[in-house]
Amino acid sequence: MEREVRVRFAPSPTGPLHIGGVRTALYNYLLARKLGGKMLLRIEDTDQNRFVPGAEQYIMDSLRWCGIEIDEGIEQGGPHAPYRQSERKPMYRQYAQQLLDSGHAYYAFDTPEELDAMRARLTAAKVPNPQYNSITRAQMRNSLTLPEDEVKQLLDSGAPYVIRLKVPRKEEIRFNDLIRGWVVVHSSAVDDKVLMKSDGMPTYHLANIVDDHLMEITHVIRGEEWLPSAPLHVLLYRYLGWEDTMPQFAHLPLLLKPDGTGKLSKRDGDKLGFPVFPLEFHGTDADGQPTVSSGYRESGYLPEAFINFLAFLGWNPGTQQELFTM
Ligand code: GLU
Repeated sequence: MEREVRVRFAPSPTGPLHIGGVRTALYNYLLARKLGGKMLLRIEDTDQNRFVPGAEQYIMDSLRWCGIEIDEGIEQGGPHAPYRQSERKPMYRQYAQQLLDSGHAYYAFDTPEELDAMRARLTAAKVPNPQYNSITRAQMRNSLTLPEDEVKQLLDSGAPYVIRLKVPRKEEIRFNDLIRGWVVVHSSAVDDKVLMKSDGMPTYHLANIVDDHLMEITHVIRGEEWLPSAPLHVLLYRYLGWEDTMPQFAHLPLLLKPDGTGKLSKRDGDKLGFPVFPLEFHGTDADGQPTVSSGYRESGYLPEAFINFLAFLGWNPGTQQELFTM
């Protein structure tokens, strides 16, 4: 049976929404509208250390100003209150438990000092990419290496732990990206990522996959910086038994600095004299002094102009038409 197309924009409220984020939202929105589907907003706020108060409202206001309509997950108090991952914690825990029970995840009790020592050891041995993986886990303190009764004792005593994914040592992970084509990664390049942190919060990876599944997302359209995480996500779909309904991935090229060396930042915009935020942003500098960054709206641009500018970055319809409505 054909599934209804469902896409999502899933920003982390770690600051104001940047034009790169608006572009990702725009592509999601346009695909949903073209295919008669739905567009969801999901606030990925599991990283409490990077949480910026006011960012969530800023994101919603910006999308509204741009004319990007959200079908689910936006109206406060309405039928679809914002989906916030911090409010969905027990669910992620349940799926982490499922992975533990099926042997695809394990408890790790290593302290930050032990992890640093491991990395230092690997770096000294000239291991190119020192990480916690199918080889190095054997030397660490986790439920795969410790005797069962010791693991039980540690858990009962309330010792801090994380839950890690047990990535297989030798396996090819493949998926068909709508933009990149077939992506094939060897599992030895993927580390045993943390799924649940010691504070009981899920990491981005677990929460993102659980939510995409439960929210019946059919297409994951996001920035290319997430391409390296996709093989891990494919493994999670497989181990949770959700491979049949795994969304299609489309990793969008990023908006780069003029010299192409990295992601376009606010500083690049300042240098070039154009805003990188849709709306004015009131922030603070390193000394805690208030700062104001200009936005397209306050600079007098019309949302239609802004959206057309974004749509034409890296794309062209192949005609002379310069102005498009949503
Ligand atoms: N929270 C992630 C971000 O802010 C979402 C990435 C994704 O769409 O999977 O970029």
